[in-house]
This record gives sequence, structure tokens and C-alpha cells, in this order.
Amino acid sequence: MPARPLIVIACCLLSLLTGLFFARQQPTASSSHPSTSPRPLIGFSMETVKEERWQMDRDFFTQRAKQLQADVLVQAANGDDSLQLTQVQSLLTQGIDVLVIIPRDGEAMAKAVALAHAANVPVIAYDRLLMNCDANLYLTFDSFKIGQLQAQFLADRLPSDRPMRIVRIYGAKTDNNATNVKNGQDAILQPLIDQGRVQIVFEDWATDWKPENAKKITNAAITRAGPQAIDAILACNDGTAGGAIQALTEEGLAGRILVTGQDAELAACQRIVQGTQTMTVYGSIKKLAHTAAESAIKLATGRPLIAQASTFNGKIPVPTLMLDIVAVTQANLKSTVIADGYHTEQAIFQESK
Ligand code: BGC
Repeated sequence: MPARPLIVIACCLLSLLTGLFFARQQPTASSSHPSTSPRPLIGFSMETVKEERWQMDRDFFTQRAKQLQADVLVQAANGDDSLQLTQVQSLLTQGIDVLVIIPRDGEAMAKAVALAHAANVPVIAYDRLLMNCDANLYLTFDSFKIGQLQAQFLADRLPSDRPMRIVRIYGAKTDNNATNVKNGQDAILQPLIDQGRVQIVFEDWATDWKPENAKKITNAAITRAGPQAIDAILACNDGTAGGAIQALTEEGLAGRILVTGQDAELAACQRIVQGTQTMTVYGSIKKLAHTAAESAIKLATGRPLIAQASTFNGKIPVPTLMLDIVAVTQANLKSTVIADGYHTEQAIFQESK
């Protein structure tokens, strides 16, 4: 769970002991492999580019690196851990100065960190934490807060005369973000469950965050609870929300049930305008990708990098840069996603007609 106060305090103490922090108690990511070549070479190992957001991450990242006179080698592993590991080995053979990883399985990719460190190459965990290893830096959105925003959206719309009946669709068990999002949701929901104001009618994990798995979970929930006995689907991202909405559409329920999400994908923004999805959570992918490219170059060239927090990954407190996010509904789509230039008004509204 990133940056929860107790853990951060624990991490601070640990880090002070290991000399990781600067005098102002800010963690610093360090590299033992300053590049001597004029153009740093960055390896960007992505578990997938299937979802729209990861294509945006890749494009913003490579654009910023190029602006800063660095080169990027991108590899995408199509959700296959052993392929991702092979791709990391190939990137290391090609002489990268720094490695940026988006893991499918944060535990499995600890091996990639060990390989990189054996070659004196520092490693950045991008968006998803690399578990039980010595990752040098972690860049992410606040997933615990994402979960809180999603659950709070439902908590603000509770029926007055009976409990709100919620289906919960979690993300991939292999992704630490999915656990953080769930924990954030739990923090809001548990007191309401205890008070009898919320009832969880069905819950399951969508393997690999796949929309088709979310659709199956929704079908099973409708079969179990009955079509009239669901008020909301607490989906953890837009992909799974999309799968759930497909199932609702087939049952003639789309637009009558609240559905949450995350990522502000174009299709999700269009569904918000149409009224089949009720909210999403938006964080600036551009800012995340640009910060990651800038940080990668700093690590590659041995320049200091100060992180504002740290996240315990089961082994060490990883210096962490965490960006903020915002809940998006029909009411603020224009002042958030569109104002930020993430999608154009035309793309969202034209296609939604
Ligand atoms: C990311 C989400 C994304 C999900 C599925 C998570 O780790 O934080 O933004 O929707 O993976 O790719």
C-alpha cells in the first residue's frame, strides 16, 4: 500500500538506518552505473500495450526521452512473464543504461531486477510495484486513493430506505495496484457494511484485468443475485467496467446500474456521456510518463533524484514518486480530461452520439 502514514514512518526509520534518505528525510534513488555515452539508452519493458492507457504511456515516455536526447528501446510482452524476462535479457545485451519495467506480475519480475543489477543497470518500477527486490525507484498514481474515490462515489449515492447492493470486480491478483485499490475501497465500504447501509452481493478478481473476465463475473452476479438486485458495479478500471457493461447491456440493464472505473479511456469517457458508465478516475499519464523519462535519464547519468516518499515492497522501502488523481463524471469531464488535452471534446462527444 503506497504512502500510508504508518508504513511511510516505518520506511523512514528503516531508510534512515540504511542511509537512504537525505537530511530532509526524502528518499533518493541512486545508480551505480552512470552512463558515459553521450546519449543514454533506456530499456522500457512493458507487460502489455493492449489497453489504451499503456499505448499512451509508451508514446509520452518515448517522446519525452527523445526531447531530452535519450534513446528508448521498447519491448511489450503480451502478458507473458517468461517472454518479459527474455526481453529484459535482450535489452541488457543491447547495452541499456537504465531499465524501466511495467510488470504483469510484480513478484515474478524481481528476477529482471536481479539481472539488471548484475549488469549494473538501475531499475524503475513504472506504475506497478516490483515486489521483494531492490528496485531503485517507483513512479505511480495513488492507487489507495483511486479505490477511495471509486467507493466514495457510491457512498455518496446510497439509497435512503435500504442498503446499496454492490457487485465488486477487483483487478489482477498479480498486480499490487489491484490490492491497493481494493484496500482503498475497503476503507470507505467497511464502515457502511457494518452499519448495514451497503451489501456486497457478489465479488471476484478479474484475472489479468481482462474485460472478458469482468463480463463473466457480472454474468455470474446477475445469475446469483437476480437482475433487479444490483444497484452498482464497483469495477476497478475502465477495461473491467467495459466488460461489466457488456453483460449489463445483454440483460437490458445498462444505464440503470452505477458503474465505476479508472483510466479515463476514450471508450469509458464516451460511456460516461452516454450514461452507461457513471464515473472513472483520471491521472495525467503524460505527467507520469514524462517524469519517468526524466528520472530514467537522471539514474542513467548518475544525477541525484529525490523522491517524496517510499513504498515497502516486501524487501526494501523503494523511493517513490506518487502523482495525484481525480474522480471524473459527466459534470467535470470537460474541466479535467478534456482541459488536460488527454482526449478532445470532439472525440468524446462525436463518437458518443
Ligand atoms: C493500472 C491501471 C490499469 C490496470 C490494467 C493497473 O496496474 O494502474 O491503470 O487499468 O493496471 O492494465
